[in-house]
Amino acid sequence: MTGPVGASASGAELKRGMVWRNWGQNQVFSPAAFAAPRSEEQLVCVVRQALGDGLNIRVAGTGHSSTPLVQTGGLLLSLENLSGITGTDLARRRARAWGGTPISSFGDPLWRDGLALSNQGDIEKQTIAGAIATGTHGSGTKLTSFSAAVRYVRIIDGTGDVVEIDERDIEELRAAQVSLGALGVVVEVELDVSPSYHLRETITFPHVDELLDRWDVNPDTHRHFSFLWCPTDNAAELFELPTPKGVRMADRAYTKVYDAVEIEEPGGIETTEGRRVDRSYRIYPGGFGLIFNELEYFVPTERGREAFTEIRQLIRTKYPEQVFPVEVRWVAADGAYLSPQYRRDNMAITITVAAGTDYWPYLRDVDAVLDDFDARPHWGKLHFTTRRRIERMFPELDRFRTIRSQFDPNDVFLNDHLRPLLG
Ligand SMILES: Cc1cc2nc3c(=O)[nH]c(=O)nc-3n(C[C@H](O)[C@H](O)[C@H](O)COP(=O)(O)OP(=O)(O)OC[C@H]3O[C@@H](n4cnc5c(N)ncnc54)[C@H](O)[C@@H]3O)c2cc1C
Repeated sequence: MTGPVGASASGAELKRGMVWRNWGQNQVFSPAAFAAPRSEEQLVCVVRQALGDGLNIRVAGTGHSSTPLVQTGGLLLSLENLSGITGTDLARRRARAWGGTPISSFGDPLWRDGLALSNQGDIEKQTIAGAIATGTHGSGTKLTSFSAAVRYVRIIDGTGDVVEIDERDIEELRAAQVSLGALGVVVEVELDVSPSYHLRETITFPHVDELLDRWDVNPDTHRHFSFLWCPTDNAAELFELPTPKGVRMADRAYTKVYDAVEIEEPGGIETTEGRRVDRSYRIYPGGFGLIFNELEYFVPTERGREAFTEIRQLIRTKYPEQVFPVEVRWVAADGAYLSPQYRRDNMAITITVAAGTDYWPYLRDVDAVLDDFDARPHWGKLHFTTRRRIERMFPELDRFRTIRSQFDPNDVFLNDHLRPLLG
């Protein structure tokens, strides 16, 4: 393999000298080679050739993780050419897709078949394999993450074998549901999905005291309840959140409620911002104009109010210059070994910081506050988790590591970030 572009034995184009950057612009590296195979056969060949050449391998999704998960000095793969829904089953409420399928590509095809993703997060740009790898989630006390919905995975493992995992392989499935890409290349997944549903959005702007008063009521009363607490008047603008004229947003929250409703199309569709009624997949996703980095920690739901109160206090007293909204969401427990929700209902606190600034002292303080709440990290967002802490936070870490080493006996899919954590 020489020169800037070459061909592997599989026929897949291999690029050299490419510079990879994540969405948040805080992760940059240059892999030895990059390939985006056009078929599963090509993908298998490229992996086997890299193994023969002694290269480590990582896969990139759309680069929406803030942590160095994708970084490699070996072969970087993209599944951008292995994208699309590969099958649906209305009776079993299942959908299959290539690993490189963006979440945005699920909406229309699933709807045509009477189905929809059961929940979604703030954006829909991530690939399904990338979203699953880090336990990507939306909000809802009874709703789990994308990872928890995974029922089947086909993986090219660290020996170049194609391995299928389904519900009969419950331990392997629990490892694959949140794998950080450390079991191998996820080629195709099957998700448990829902019958198609419409949502009614209700956006309000309560003062934080009102939220604190109704803390235990709001999240349980709605399918989706979440809020973005605005430390200052201009915080909402940073996320381009529309707010009512004349209302000062400092210490208020942009609060989102989504409830399932039964309507007929097209008459029942409502497009007015703040009280839209539409298909679920048109309501969930937003977008962000500004590039930022994030930390997101999960605390046990019953300690959420206390944890949020301490973070609010930290910002107001020590970091008044930190003006990004703080997002609060709820996620239901699941059984994936590396899931932040492993056997625990959680409340998630997301701290957003301006890309390119020295936000580390602030994030360290947030980490110290939330560690007292037994917080677990979002793997795709900035965190300070050490091996000792993972051992404390994830009771099934060793089981994950045992399964991982069966899939990847030579640690081909570990990188400098993951080796100390999972090796
Ligand atoms: C603006 C923004 C909004 C976000 N909103 C949310 C949200 O609402 N909820 C939430 O939970 N998170 C959210 N995130 C975090 C994001 O969902 C996760 O970081 C997710 O993992 C990114 O997916 P990706 O496709 O970009 O994958 P990447 O970030 O590129 O990769 C993530 C991991 O997946 C692995 N991977 C990707 N594809 C494969 C494959 N085919 N096989 C094996 N491994 C693979 C990579 O190696 C890496 O370990 C957000 C991030 C941003 C920047």
